[in-house]
Amino acid sequence: MVPMMSNEDVKVKHSKRIHQKKTTIENKIKLAKAYNWTDVMKQPHRYLKCSLFSCGNKNCVFCANPRKIWKEDTIQEKRQKQKVNDD
Ligand SMILES: [Zn+2]
Repeated sequence: MVPMMSNEDVKVKHSKRIHQKKTTIENKIKLAKAYNWTDVMKQPHRYLKCSLFSCGNKNCVFCANPRKIWKEDTIQEKRQKQKVNDD
């Protein structure tokens, strides 16, 4: 059984969702301005759920996760392993 949420909780969750979307779009607009990408600035909502830097091709070697294509660690994982070795 899911406990009933009060009306106030629903309102808070709803406004939180709206705020999150707004801030991600604002950040993406900042990036687009820095790179001078006019097509992104015209329709920033199109890029809400995808990265500005990915080309959109799921088989692209440059944008894909290296673990999937090369069976290597990702950059973040390499960085963490290096930190562990340095300590
Ligand atoms: Zn790509």
